[in-house]
Amino acid sequence: MYLRTLHLQQFRNYRDQTVEFTAPKTILLGDNAQGKSNLLEAVELLATLKSHRSTSDRELILEGTKESRITAFLEREHSNLDLVINLRFGARRGITINQQPIKRHMDFLGSLNAVQFSSLDLELVRGAPEKRRSWLDTILMQIEPIYAHILQQYNQVLRQRNALLKRLQHEASLDNFYEELALWDVQLATTGSRVTRRRARVLERLAPLAQDWHTKISGKTEIFTLNYAPNVPIPENNPEKVQEAFLEKIQLRRIPEHRQGTSLVGSHRDDIEFLINETAAKLYGSQGQQRTLVLALKLAELKLIEEVVGEAPLLLLDDVLAELDLHRQNQLLEAIQDRFQTLITTTHLGSFDADWLHNSQILSVEAGMVLDSI
Ligand code: ATP
Ligand code: MG
Repeated sequence: MYLRTLHLQQFRNYRDQTVEFTAPKTILLGDNAQGKSNLLEAVELLATLKSHRSTSDRELILEGTKESRITAFLEREHSNLDLVINLRFGARRGITINQQPIKRHMDFLGSLNAVQFSSLDLELVRGAPEKRRSWLDTILMQIEPIYAHILQQYNQVLRQRNALLKRLQHEASLDNFYEELALWDVQLATTGSRVTRRRARVLERLAPLAQDWHTKISGKTEIFTLNYAPNVPIPENNPEKVQEAFLEKIQLRRIPEHRQGTSLVGSHRDDIEFLINETAAKLYGSQGQQRTLVLALKLAELKLIEEVVGEAPLLLLDDVLAELDLHRQNQLLEAIQDRFQTLITTTHLGSFDADWLHNSQILSVEAGMVLDSI
């Protein structure tokens, strides 16, 4: 897929800017705080309907205005898509594909696929489990848009179950509430098992790809393992079995759940383990090892989406190239070649390979404006 045009209106620090992409690689060059990451963020929104930098649309709308609009023209193998996301102050988003309004997120997701790689991604290794879950969930939403709906259902059940547990926290006994609780237990088990099984399945496909890349980049000296660590261990990827396992664990945790007034069992407590030579990368990995690991994960993500979707996703590299040493840079550049449309932000061109620069479109970003660079 190829993003031909991006039009930003009142989005972040862009007032009204159209960008034409004329080469498989585009370098966005500019000083700090000029709008480079903002532009990538707009593409991220088109791919996931989310921004990893912000949870409120209000922050995305140009200060002093009430509405912003992201318009994209995307060429895909079998169709061209006009995509529009309209963000409104204090109102629902308006989303259209080829001028047709889209009501459900899952019908928009999957139109444009993108893999984002930024220096923040080291948090994937070092950060809290939430980062890893959110990484995995974002991949899933792109390759199985229905997952967005499944996860939303799970979160809704979780919120309601938590509200109930909170309400019952100060009851001396749960005896009078078992029926009500049992209802929510089943809901949590049903929706949770859907989340868990899909996460398990995608990790099964992702792990060998990430291991292959890791071997390539680290030069076979290290063994990388990636394990799903679900809060409810799953006996086998069978819906009934997984639901049973959920219900059993919920029973076991009844007393602490009552005491703490919150759900202690479920997919919201899943994690993913990254091991290098059988030790946790989080605790023992050097900076370099952790960078290699994240790079391997990102390349695996790229490949997985390409396999599932049947077209190459976009790659968004935010400030990341300059942080990689030459060897890792070359691995990355070799993997991309001209197969993936790539948008790269940087503050200087110094660390780029000359051939690469020659083949790239270079744009300058200055105070929310994008100009052709010489
Ligand atoms: P760096 O090289 O430091 O990463 P960058 O070019 O990637 O810089 P961005 O994060 O894209 O910078 O842009 C940051 C700029 O956008 C800041 O000046 C910030 O004030 C501005 N900005 C962010 N949100 C809004 C908004 N809603 N309205 C107006 N300006 C905004
Ligand atoms: Mg930036």
